[in-house]
Amino acid sequence: MVGAIKSEIKNLTCVECPMGCSLKVTVEDGKAVSVEGNNCPRGKAYGENEVVCPRRTLTTSLRTDKGKMVAVKTDRPIKKSEIFEVMEKINGVKVATPVKIGDIIIEKVSEDINLVASSNVE
Ligand code: SF4
Repeated sequence: MVGAIKSEIKNLTCVECPMGCSLKVTVEDGKAVSVEGNNCPRGKAYGENEVVCPRRTLTTSLRTDKGKMVAVKTDRPIKKSEIFEVMEKINGVKVATPVKIGDIIIEKVSEDINLVASSNVE
């Protein structure tokens, strides 16, 4: 069948806020053409991205130069497919103290996304 459009429906749960809306995303030829069930624009964007290039905010903790742990996270969601690569990149990194929430720990850890502190450590 020349020119036939492959269409499918994906059922997802929006994870952008605690409401967890059930989304129904219609995908045609690998592209999201409609999103239903979202209660806000963030859900529409989440549904569209999730079927094409899912992303997640990476959260973890690293050891400081004084042996304490500091919570860190990416300042925006990174590609889900790159999470292990980024974890390998940051594994073993020692964070210089003092560190404050929002301090950049690793610049451009993935694309133009930074790894930042999400806790304070003296
Ligand atoms: S669609 Fe909007 S309201 Fe619903 S879970 Fe997603 S962010 Fe929350």
